[in-house]
Amino acid sequence: MGLTQLALLTCVVIATVTCSSQTNCHQGGNCRLPQCSCSSYSSPLPVKDTPQIIFYGFDDALNVRMARHFRKLFPSDRRNPNNCPISMSLYIQHAYTDYSLVSEFYKKGMEIGVHSVTHTNIDTEAKLADEAERQKNNLARLGSVPKDEIVGWRSPNLKTAGDKQPPTLKRLGYTYDISLTYTVGKRHQKKPWPFTLDYGYPYSCQIQPCPGRTASHKGFWEVPIVSLMDYKGAYPCAYVDGCYNSPTTEDDAFQFLWKNFEDNYQTRTPLGFNMHAAWFERPHNLAAMDRFIKEMTKKDDVYIVSVQKMLEWMKNPIKLSDLHNLESWGCKSA
Ligand SMILES: [Zn+2]
Repeated sequence: MGLTQLALLTCVVIATVTCSSQTNCHQGGNCRLPQCSCSSYSSPLPVKDTPQIIFYGFDDALNVRMARHFRKLFPSDRRNPNNCPISMSLYIQHAYTDYSLVSEFYKKGMEIGVHSVTHTNIDTEAKLADEAERQKNNLARLGSVPKDEIVGWRSPNLKTAGDKQPPTLKRLGYTYDISLTYTVGKRHQKKPWPFTLDYGYPYSCQIQPCPGRTASHKGFWEVPIVSLMDYKGAYPCAYVDGCYNSPTTEDDAFQFLWKNFEDNYQTRTPLGFNMHAAWFERPHNLAAMDRFIKEMTKKDDVYIVSVQKMLEWMKNPIKLSDLHNLESWGCKSA
């Protein structure tokens, strides 16, 4: 019996231990919140006490055309059950970005993250150190976003610097990466939650390189890009706008979003829409997402929050009924 099987067997026998794909990670033992979170396919709380988190991660330039879509979909009167406005995350590149819009969306409570200066493959420590620092500075200086609130990084083309990525980003004040994809081949398969890399990256690497299984990057969060299933239920797609079968009507587009929501809702696994806002240039897609968000904001157990806010909950998993007490999810003007 190998070590992996032994660890799995131990997990089955000791029912109180949450099993992790990180073989040496034991939540509550050698890994404790809020600094450390083992990789997992289930909520840290019972399903009925777990909020359904939906997050949006948009990539590339923030320009006038994209801003129009964001203003329509994320107006301040669309609120979560705690009466605070819904929020999303923008991973912004330098080229073609209008920084007055960065400032506008930051002030509206959206998360501003980084997607490089040049949008080339940032796959070495030197390139990453250079662009992750420069683009953070651009967003701070030109977009008036406080540097300490810029904590998330997405690699262009989802091509990372492997094990060099977490320590380089951490040194520059980043707390998480959202660049590694996880493919779910069929509906109703288990899906990973965000976790820290204290005990390595346990999943198969879709785009080389990834952090290693035995590497340790203490306290650094990885938010997996979990694939969605296309509207025909045929093929997985990492990005909303990257499906092989792309919807051609509003109804198909809505069903695509809705079915993916239903899949995650059974286990309350966070549902991530990783995408380019160019998807909304097709009016039926924009109409479908508008309708979808409207439906979601009617539910008392669904929260549409930025990735940064999702991780605040992961660090401090509060029961749905007590969520109004989670300060990091609060807002000033509610
Ligand atoms: Zn990009």
